[in-house]
Amino acid sequence: MPFEFQGKHVTVAGLGVSGVPAAKVLHGLGARVTVVNDGADERARAQAAELEALGITVRLGDGDTLPEGTELIVTAPGWKPTKPLFTAAGQAGVPVWGDVELAWRLRRPDSAPWLAVTGTNGKTTTVQMLASILKAAGLRTAAVGNIGVSLLDAVTGDEEYDVLAVELSSYQLHWAPSLRAHSAAVLNLAPDHLDWHGSMEAYAADKGRIYEGNHVACVYNVADKATEDLVREADVEEGCRAIGFTLGSPAPSQLGVVDGILVDRAFVENRHKNAQELAEVSDVNPPAPHNIANALAAAALARAFGVPAAAVRDGLRAFTPDAHRIAHVADVDGVAYVDDSKATNTHATEASLAAYESIVWIAGGLAKGATFDELVAGAAKRLRGAVLIGADRALIREALARHAPEVPVVDLDRTDTGAMLQAVQEARRLARPGDTVLLAPACASMDMFTNYNQRGDAFARAVRELGA
Ligand code: ADP
Repeated sequence: MPFEFQGKHVTVAGLGVSGVPAAKVLHGLGARVTVVNDGADERARAQAAELEALGITVRLGDGDTLPEGTELIVTAPGWKPTKPLFTAAGQAGVPVWGDVELAWRLRRPDSAPWLAVTGTNGKTTTVQMLASILKAAGLRTAAVGNIGVSLLDAVTGDEEYDVLAVELSSYQLHWAPSLRAHSAAVLNLAPDHLDWHGSMEAYAADKGRIYEGNHVACVYNVADKATEDLVREADVEEGCRAIGFTLGSPAPSQLGVVDGILVDRAFVENRHKNAQELAEVSDVNPPAPHNIANALAAAALARAFGVPAAAVRDGLRAFTPDAHRIAHVADVDGVAYVDDSKATNTHATEASLAAYESIVWIAGGLAKGATFDELVAGAAKRLRGAVLIGADRALIREALARHAPEVPVVDLDRTDTGAMLQAVQEARRLARPGDTVLLAPACASMDMFTNYNQRGDAFARAVRELGA
């Protein structure tokens, strides 16, 4: 561990899921820790009391002033780079690390290498598939990052790992300048969180950091040129390879699909002539196109780590997606009801709409500044009908009027707890046998629900009432 924390003045920016454990770990290493936090609500006060009892200084209600004597800031990943705290740090020459950078610096010298995944959509799914494949190969591993075990726990805890499957957000990457993964994948790049990053270029550049210093493979999406451009721009270790994944037939140094089989033309002997069969498309759950892409990315990272083909198949078979991600809820009168409540932006919704032939689409909520023309124009031919809910539903209704005027639309002007039941009943009226009723809102849920989980649960409950 090249960084010496003993006696250092470290400011932790932000309480919460990353700040509290970071403060404790730094305090345990002998640093003189001050935590600063914008809010001072009940939860913050309880967390502050817990830290103060350990001897950590906490300043509530002012996250903008740099505490005197600060030598290092460890920030919660969500804090915007334009905050005055960081401007002051820049002027004072104080380095700023995020939670990932801290975890990276605290690794033991012989600790497990990281296989890292980022992208606008599909991160959690891909990392979980990857962990499942690594486990099937008999490796000690965990899915870490935004999910499951926290990174800090994984690197500082007692549990021993051979390799870690790490999910990284663009925010985390922004604050992780010295991270050097064994191998990494950028799944896709679509505009998201631009208010935070400032521009698409800045967002892409932060995602691209995941490739910096990779040792074995930089995995990119052949269908998304921006991801390949990021590989080209990255400064990697000598001998590190660019590996593409594609839903089509793979070229050498790619993984892809041939006649319903996932195949590897990257990690095989004589890749100009040979290909290795990995798994069948039907081994991927669910076998929707975007999810096959996720499986190929996970397979590429696993293969870069030397995992045998059979473990890829076994790991994919053993994988079950988290709730609310294209989850099949029930069939009622020949109509399938599918919950993709996690599709909270247009890019994710585009992928789930592409997975079905004839759809009654339930959509709407908080648009977060998104526009829907491209999404609706692309899906128009597949839409049997649409049921719109939530605060910004007019934006989707107008896009439907422009690009799919013949599609029947039900506009639900209510936000009470019964709204989802009515939405599902309306969807049932519009659906024909063989259709799919798909909840893929393309919007955040907080106007009507606590989060996307609660929205998906409400949908599933309503579907079960139909079947009852
Ligand atoms: P993340 O962790 O990046 O938010 P998840 O794996 O939780 O990603 O999936 C979020 C949503 O994104 C899913 O509900 C699905 O609709 C969509 N999705 C998953 N994988 C992809 C992909 N490769 N391309 C586009 N959309 C995807």
